[in-house]
Amino acid sequence: ELEDMERRRRAEEAEDKKGMVATMRDISRQEYLKKREEAKLEELKEALEDEKYLFQGVKLTDKERRDLEYKEQVYKLAVERKKQLEELEQDDHYHMPTGYEDEKGRSQKYEVLTQRYRDVEAEEKQETPWAQQEQFEAEQIKKAASKFGAKDRKSKAESYDYVFEDQIEFIVDQYLAGSGPEVEETKEEKLKREREAREAEQRSEFEQIQEARKLLPMFPYRDDLLKAVEEHQVIIIVGETGSGKTTQIPQYLYEAGYGKLGKIGCTQPRRVAAMSVAARVAQEMGVKLGNEVGYSIRFEDCTSDKTLVKYMTDGMLLREFLGEPDLASYSCMMVDEAHERTLHTDVLFGLVKDIARFRPDLKLLISSATLDAEKFSEYFDFAPIFRIPGRRYPVDILYTKAPEADYLHAAVVTTLQIHVSQPAGDVLIFLTGQEEIEACEELLRQRTRGMGSKIGELIIAPIYANLPSDMQAKIFEPTPPGARKVVIATNIAETSLTIDGIKYVIDPGFCKQNSYNPRTGMESLQVTPISKASALQRAGRAGRTAPGKCFRLYTAWAYQHELEDNTVPEIQRTNLGNVVLLLKSLGINDLINFDFMDPPPTETMFRALEQLYALGALNDKGELTTLGRKMAEFPVDPMLAKMIIQSQKYGVSEEVATIAAMVSIGGAVFYRPKDKAVHADNAHKAFHRGNVGDHIALMNVFNGWAETNFASQWCFENFVRSMKRARDIRDQLLGLMDRCEIELVSNPQDVEAIRKAITSGFFYHTASLQKNGSYRTVKNPQTVHIHPSSGLSEIMPRWLVYHELVLTTKEYMRVVSEIKPEWLVEIAPHYYSKKE
Ligand code: ADP
Ligand code: MG
Repeated sequence: ELEDMERRRRAEEAEDKKGMVATMRDISRQEYLKKREEAKLEELKEALEDEKYLFQGVKLTDKERRDLEYKEQVYKLAVERKKQLEELEQDDHYHMPTGYEDEKGRSQKYEVLTQRYRDVEAEEKQETPWAQQEQFEAEQIKKAASKFGAKDRKSKAESYDYVFEDQIEFIVDQYLAGSGPEVEETKEEKLKREREAREAEQRSEFEQIQEARKLLPMFPYRDDLLKAVEEHQVIIIVGETGSGKTTQIPQYLYEAGYGKLGKIGCTQPRRVAAMSVAARVAQEMGVKLGNEVGYSIRFEDCTSDKTLVKYMTDGMLLREFLGEPDLASYSCMMVDEAHERTLHTDVLFGLVKDIARFRPDLKLLISSATLDAEKFSEYFDFAPIFRIPGRRYPVDILYTKAPEADYLHAAVVTTLQIHVSQPAGDVLIFLTGQEEIEACEELLRQRTRGMGSKIGELIIAPIYANLPSDMQAKIFEPTPPGARKVVIATNIAETSLTIDGIKYVIDPGFCKQNSYNPRTGMESLQVTPISKASALQRAGRAGRTAPGKCFRLYTAWAYQHELEDNTVPEIQRTNLGNVVLLLKSLGINDLINFDFMDPPPTETMFRALEQLYALGALNDKGELTTLGRKMAEFPVDPMLAKMIIQSQKYGVSEEVATIAAMVSIGGAVFYRPKDKAVHADNAHKAFHRGNVGDHIALMNVFNGWAETNFASQWCFENFVRSMKRARDIRDQLLGLMDRCEIELVSNPQDVEAIRKAITSGFFYHTASLQKNGSYRTVKNPQTVHIHPSSGLSEIMPRWLVYHELVLTTKEYMRVVSEIKPEWLVEIAPHYYSKKE
């Protein structure tokens, strides 16, 4: 009977496989066959159990025993067969017209998240990373079967429905109104806009740009603003994102002649924004970037003697105070994106407020995207507020019906849902960082691969801090007709950058934030829910040029109950070591009474002072030491600065400069494409030779690259990236070392000396292995773990030094090296005594 069944099944299967494409009908038939076989199996099982029950306690004859054994055998075979069938069936699923897979089929499909993301996730969930995917696959098939089972023919729309079966249900809950009167675009307006766009195409690019400038909400207020600047020393400017504050105001000031009195500066909290905005303004002014218009960010100065309009990060302006405490070379300073309340912006507030008193000719503009400008005004001695009326189209806010466990997956599904069901308009997805953005990009490509002309073209444009600038420009390129652009961005697109044409925003509700516990000295970067204010800003991105929609990947309840109203200013949740060192070198000794808009917790302040004291940057009176003065020269964390300065003593300053540069580019060096994961792993392993730690491995990467005379082919072959930036940073550090008279000495073989030099800066960041396999930080004990991306994650040395802590699913130490406990006593005797 079994054989018969199998034969029939084979015949049916062969029929099915004709052309490899099974139809919906086939799924339901397979379901049916499966059910039938299950029923047979159940029958066999029952018969067997009946017999066993009957023969209970009875002494069996040989024949009876053989019979029973035979039946048992048959049952086992049937179970076995069922298992095989299920496996076969599973394979079959990969030939179904899901469309989003290619020839590589199964493995491709499972390779959903990037490996690192996966490791961390899997560990957390205690399940295989693909279990979730498998489940969703199974559910998709089931749903499709019940939905389309009876139909032989499918309309095109239905097939789309099927392709992206894993839908998320949204409910419209709220309607976001702009700050100004709402505008509904009428048909005539739409036609007019389209006609104008066509006409505009005929004009030269420069003319077009000049006309676009005049259309910005800022433009009608140009003269009023200039008048206000003339009459007041400090003004607060409030206007919605995209109204033209960042790109226009410095130009207006320049056009009004302020450039003749000095530079016009404009600070940005984010590096990418400073670069991108400067590039745009140079284009608008028709000049070469770096000449009249330039930018300055850490480790990169794109300005010249000619530069009169200068964009810079807030951190860079802080550093400029070191060389020019009264900002004498500036006639105007605009502190932009003030609502972001970054640490550096908050410190700048105090400094610019102070110098405004003895530099009455300096014009100060504080600009913000949010409406609560009163606080800024009050702080700046009731400076007048200049409001630029908003112009925004209505935005529908949609919430998920149920919470989404995996927001990355949900974001991808929602994007595809929008793509196949919504009218033209670009999509903006907010994610927390580079890794997530890359995983999302990959996932989107996989899901749309092989769809051909079935769906419109999706142009995927990521944007994050480490993205090379030529790629950054991609987000601003106009979308060709018929296509849809998907911008995947970090918080940068919340207010710093405005991308025209966005109609759909996908907001998972998270961002990466640093947090700091002054009691334990523990700093970490973690994925945190955003605030309501942030959510509102994000939604607003959808309604800039036309009515839009914002898909929130959380429930309305979560929005109401789980999100804070406002983001806590960074100054209240970060380590202040850097800033305290900088303020001390500016001669500001009384930090407790410094004029902060929102003062940091006293405990954090004390902890920073204590750490600087332990590093030898301050003496016991709290005054800057010679070492401290040197440390302040380096635009890096005090621990890193100390490590660089001490490196000469260990005869390895060149190696340490390399390591400092490599750790400064963040976790983006080792690159692991899915289809070449094994190759990449092997290549990376070679850098970890000797297994002494990630610092040395990073150095090996750089030196390996240097040996090939910095060939990009080498990076490609070894699966490493961001190296050009590492080289730039290294050059900058070498320059600073030269200025501080730190001699360049090299001994790449002495890995012990190198690790000692690292420890001399990072003795604060040490941990020892515990019996249970976790680590404990040496001072202020805390349980931590080695990050799975580390070369030492399996070796688990007894003692180690780590570069930073990141909190994802656990508290992970990232970039670790093995040390010996004796070194601590030898290197930092004031901090560690023998007993420990
Ligand atoms: P705000 O600072 O008020 O948020 P911006 O000055 O940054 O506004 O932007 C004003 C407008 O300039 C945007 O709406 C956008 O149309 C345009 N814009 C800004 N940067 C670029 C760019 N890099 N490429 C193209 N257009 C840009
Ligand atoms: Mg701006």
